[in-house]
Amino acid sequence: MVEPPPLPEYDRFHSAHVPELRPDHIPLRWEPLRYGNRARVRDYTCDCRPTFYELCHSGGECFIRRTRRLNGQVLVDECMRGRTARTLEAWTRLLAGEAG
Ligand SMILES: [Zn+2]
Repeated sequence: MVEPPPLPEYDRFHSAHVPELRPDHIPLRWEPLRYGNRARVRDYTCDCRPTFYELCHSGGECFIRRTRRLNGQVLVDECMRGRTARTLEAWTRLLAGEAG
């Protein structure tokens, strides 16, 4: 039997990848996740990376959820809970490597 060729890169379904944080990035203050996991996810980064992010909406508030897979553990925290405009700005910066 012939091995199927590996999938070309464009055949994988990757979402946005967060670039390396720039040295002059704005530090975000990550806090323990509140209200469990009940939230609507509006946008997300690719989970092929050990750390991925989700832009969430819950109870009229917006926030960024971070999931980190470290040594077999899954750590989840959040930041920028509050008004959509402010959270969205942080999200845009995070996607550009300007905040994290
Ligand atoms: Zn990916």
